[in-house]
Amino acid sequence: MTRLPAHLVAERAARAAETVRRQPCPRCGADTLTARTPDRVAAVDVRTDPTPIDPKAGIPAGRLAWCLTGGDHTPQRIRWRDRWHAPHCTHPVLIDHQCPPRPVQETLL
Ligand SMILES: [Zn+2]
Ligand SMILES: [Zn+2]
Repeated sequence: MTRLPAHLVAERAARAAETVRRQPCPRCGADTLTARTPDRVAAVDVRTDPTPIDPKAGIPAGRLAWCLTGGDHTPQRIRWRDRWHAPHCTHPVLIDHQCPPRPVQETLL
């Protein structure tokens, strides 16, 4: 049995990290999508809300927008939605997950 060259092993590990997964948020337990961006230079681990927003209605203040790329025949990826891409983007648009504020009752107690 031949061992895979190290760069191939690393590439497979990177691809696994890029796979979009549905996981509960470790802090608030909300349903979220998580993946590493496929950027070669500055890959970041992203956690987004699972429901795409309508970008025409505007990106909520303080949130980052991400494209959900891929589909039926290509694996899904989460990519940074930069301002050059945004005007002609046709992808579902996800925004980064922010844990909801604690219920009022809980902070009062
Ligand atoms: Zn896009
Ligand atoms: Zn959360």
